[in-house]
Amino acid sequence: MASSPTDLIHHPYQPPAGFEAPQPGVFKASTVIFPNVAAMRARDWKQKAGYTYGLHGTPTTFTLEERIATLEGGRQCLLVPSGLAAIANVNTALLKAGDELLIPHNAYGPGKALAEGELAQWGITHQLYDPMDPADLQARLTPRTRLVWLEAPGSVTMEFPPLADLARVCRERGVLTALDNTWGAGLAFNGFDLGRGAHVASGSGADIVVQALTKYPSGGGDVLMGSVVTRDEALHLRLKLSHMRMGWGVGANDAEAVLRALPSVALRYRAQDEAARSLATWLGQQPQIAAVLHPALAGSPGHEHWRALCTADGQGGDAGLAAGLFSVVFDGRYRPQQIDAFCDALKLFRLGYSWGGPVSLVVPYDVPAMRPRWPHPGVLVRFSVGLEAVQDLQADLAAALGTL
Ligand SMILES: *Cc1c(COP(=O)(O)O)cnc(C)c1O
Repeated sequence: MASSPTDLIHHPYQPPAGFEAPQPGVFKASTVIFPNVAAMRARDWKQKAGYTYGLHGTPTTFTLEERIATLEGGRQCLLVPSGLAAIANVNTALLKAGDELLIPHNAYGPGKALAEGELAQWGITHQLYDPMDPADLQARLTPRTRLVWLEAPGSVTMEFPPLADLARVCRERGVLTALDNTWGAGLAFNGFDLGRGAHVASGSGADIVVQALTKYPSGGGDVLMGSVVTRDEALHLRLKLSHMRMGWGVGANDAEAVLRALPSVALRYRAQDEAARSLATWLGQQPQIAAVLHPALAGSPGHEHWRALCTADGQGGDAGLAAGLFSVVFDGRYRPQQIDAFCDALKLFRLGYSWGGPVSLVVPYDVPAMRPRWPHPGVLVRFSVGLEAVQDLQADLAAALGTL
């Protein structure tokens, strides 16, 4: 070796400044280097004016935070290692022993499991409420209620709740609301302003909007990440302190993958929406199907709430926007084993959890085990539509239905 390893580590070469390219660079760091001790002492990790340690942010994560805050219509953003970690960040930051939180009964399952597990262990109680009935939510609020989760539509069963009414009930009682906006992706509606329909007051949204960036913003089925967005600096700081103490940082390569996919999120969302509506409509016409659960289709539970929030004039004046996700309920004459065989017979729709990626996915669910009241005798199957040609997906569905 012609030189010492020190020369390779402390090398004098600096590349010319001013490099610019369509995508931001990837900055990877645990350690951040300070020019002198005074700078080291002066820098405050809570301020984004400088860098202190990789866990508290790099140019790459700061850039993604700003873009996700913009996507959601908020001001501040925290990135966490998964969508579930975003839910956990909100709960751990805002709740203490003796507090109660309210969760919709059709919420994302692992969020309920967190309440039943760690939160219960820590002396934090929870109740499930009926998101389709603001009076039920109102009746469950007590002086101990500190946080109410909102989610639209319901996980798997796809009921679209009257979000603005639920948020108003909480605001009138001074209770914070957090919206899981993974389905809407910051595109179908603005979680901070649920007053888009003509008949609801403006400025009527959630206090905190979280999203599983894992789904549409990542778009690849290859990244896990979550975001916690706010409009209020003091609330953001409460969340950020908990975020730091829990050590919920994200890696720069994952942040870069989301930054790369973000410019196309609106195009992908719209394309997957169109394909899903076409397939859901077609499935609704097949004799094997008893019900189609898709908030943008008339007759689906809460369709009128979706229309009020997600179409341009709140009256269904345009096609509106919805995620490429829907469920069907099979006719009650089919046994669960036959529906398993239907799912196995699909070739393009692959068996797997999550959604928002290029590959269409399918999962059969045992809903009576998941919900307090469920009216359908048949088995529910959820579809996530990817980016394949819609006629190929329809042919796949037709062939699998033919095996029943
Ligand atoms: C997927 C999902 C989550 C969790 O996201 P992960 O990144 O998989 O942890 C949370 N909420 C909703 C509504 C989801 O669909």
